[in-house]
Amino acid sequence: MALQNLKDFHRPGAVEEVLALLSENDEALVLAGGTFIRGLEARGLLNGLETLVDIRRLGLDTIRVDADGIEAGATATLAKLQRVVAAQNAAWLGGLADALDCPPLQIRNTATLGGCLAASCPFFDIPTALVALDTEITIRGSDGERRLPLPELFFGLFANALEPGELITGLSIPHAAGHSAGAFGKLGAHANVLAIVNVAVQLTVDGGLCSAACVALGGGVADTVVRSPAAEAILTGSKLDPAALAAAGEAVAGDIQPLSDHQASAEYRRAVAKVMTRRTLERAVARLA
Ligand SMILES: Cc1cc2nc3c(=O)[nH]c(=O)nc-3n(C[C@H](O)[C@H](O)[C@H](O)COP(=O)(O)OP(=O)(O)OC[C@H]3O[C@@H](n4cnc5c(N)ncnc54)[C@H](O)[C@@H]3O)c2cc1C
Repeated sequence: MALQNLKDFHRPGAVEEVLALLSENDEALVLAGGTFIRGLEARGLLNGLETLVDIRRLGLDTIRVDADGIEAGATATLAKLQRVVAAQNAAWLGGLADALDCPPLQIRNTATLGGCLAASCPFFDIPTALVALDTEITIRGSDGERRLPLPELFFGLFANALEPGELITGLSIPHAAGHSAGAFGKLGAHANVLAIVNVAVQLTVDGGLCSAACVALGGGVADTVVRSPAAEAILTGSKLDPAALAAAGEAVAGDIQPLSDHQASAEYRRAVAKVMTRRTLERAVARLA
């Protein structure tokens, strides 16, 4: 049990202090909401852990909305973002609103946006919805600050592009251009569990034709969240009619490499991904009306 070897717990009040603690100790772990620490431990990913650095006193929990989009700090909770998104009541945020409904209330109230992304778990829902919205993250390290398009954060199963000692400090979701709507769908074995397949789509129309499309899939359709260029190519320029939505659903099969695990076989995930993509597209199209 890795957590039984813990020796130190820090609760700094400034990002610089966090960076100093992380650079002094290779085995130190950032603690945000703490809801996935046991999940990481159960997967053998916390061996050697001796120090926890709690980042919830950094003041990174604000969320700002303006004409450019949404800027959120890394320690803003899922529940806080959910309230902000609900207040916008905007079709372009429909997919994110759907995804934020998925985790149980207790998890939403505690889990943070930074933790949800840094965990780099392909079975989470919020990352899939954020990829569909072209989200960028801000990262701080001893060399300064850098920004990264969200898909470039994810390397593989529980692996990401954060260098040792780096911290996610925030994310930005650009306001959708034009007439845009999103939707998100999830298949889980039962309520309050991680996804078997999830799909987030974002569609923009101009003059009756689809001018931009994003189709993102997660939940074990690959070892990270992936986009489907084939589905997006079919949708872009189409009238988003039933034939185009069905063809896009079929096309995702070529862009995924599903995992087999205790929840579902790769074949099952592939079949479900096709149907769920079509259905999620249908919901986004209805929101465009
Ligand atoms: C019972 C249960 C049900 C769930 N259901 C769902 C669901 O339906 N849908 C869904 O999407 N998710 C679900 N989840 C997962 C949940 O979204 C994650 O546990 C949560 O988002 C993790 O955030 P956290 O702040 O608690 O991270 P923590 O547990 O504190 O940290 C997770 C990892 O991220 C690292 N980390 C945290 N913050 C940062 C940062 N700012 N910079 C760098 N590294 C950081 C930590 O070091 C750790 O490695 C569920 C979890 C549980 C326990």
